Amino acid sequence: MKNIKIKVPATVANLVCGFDILGMAIHQPYDEMELKILEEPEVIIRHTDDFNLPEEASKNVAGVVLQKMIEELNLKNGFEVIIHKNIKPGSGLGSSAASAAGAAFGANRLLGNNLSKNELVHFAMFGEELASGVRHADNIAPIIYGGISLVKSSHPIDIIPLNSPDLFTVAVHPQVEVKTSDARQILKKNILLKDAVEQWGNIAGLIAGIEKNDFSLIGRSLNDIIVEPVRSILIPQFDTIKTKSLKLGALGGGISGSGPSIFMLTEKEETAYKIAQMMESVYHQIDIESFVYVSKINPTGIEIIEEN
Ligand code: ADP
Repeated sequence: MKNIKIKVPATVANLVCGFDILGMAIHQPYDEMELKILEEPEVIIRHTDDFNLPEEASKNVAGVVLQKMIEELNLKNGFEVIIHKNIKPGSGLGSSAASAAGAAFGANRLLGNNLSKNELVHFAMFGEELASGVRHADNIAPIIYGGISLVKSSHPIDIIPLNSPDLFTVAVHPQVEVKTSDARQILKKNILLKDAVEQWGNIAGLIAGIEKNDFSLIGRSLNDIIVEPVRSILIPQFDTIKTKSLKLGALGGGISGSGPSIFMLTEKEETAYKIAQMMESVYHQIDIESFVYVSKINPTGIEIIEEN
């Protein structure tokens, strides 16, 4: 096999109370990537989008992942990658993770599919390190495993793929900039034990709800008393959107990754579209452009479009 074309989905990291340990794949938006195997151990990156991302391999997350694979696996071949990006960088919807995970997945297929999912996560995390300075797996894991993933630990890699409840997600990306580094810097370094206990209850409840398909329990558990109160101040209209979404029937939701995107979970597609409309109109009223995506939870993660 010499060529592969794949569809790589956006992801929602944290899932409200699971800061740095939970992530979920969605269907919309998604990137497409084409990978071709080369005779020499070099990496060529090309973008067909208008996001102005670096094409120099060592500065592109897909490039560093492939360079790391060539180095650690002692490969004699290299790769050419064409990225058609739709997931806007800095959206909080896992743009860098998509390119990093897509590169690891595609290269592995071209090399004979010998690596495990955890090995793909290992290589893809080097891309996250380039993008944010931290080798985290909460966006990468659900792209590779599909559905919802619990990152029990990223060093050593211990990923628990969870059930994919039959729920809809609606995500809004207001066109404002929230730097991941700012969103991390403003977090408190210490938390009170009583707050930690409440948060443990929410995380445990959320995971039990996901596993049991108990939508009411999922809704009751989607509460974050530690990160959201601090981070949400960086996102215009966060409280309004959350309150109105719950009134319209959302089970719950919050900041996607480090923002500025906000996501909600709903049982019915109709509810998701009503919330989508409301989100757009809230931002329209304050002259902020926004993009809204409605889709089911994506149980598959990366999909192969064609390979030959
Ligand atoms: P998101 O918040 O959507 O997950 P990130 O903040 O994680 O996005 O990643 C965006 C950062 O990664 C930007 O600084 C961008 O320049 C850098 N980057 C490098 N290569 C890529 C790539 N192929 N795709 C997306 N971002 C990339």
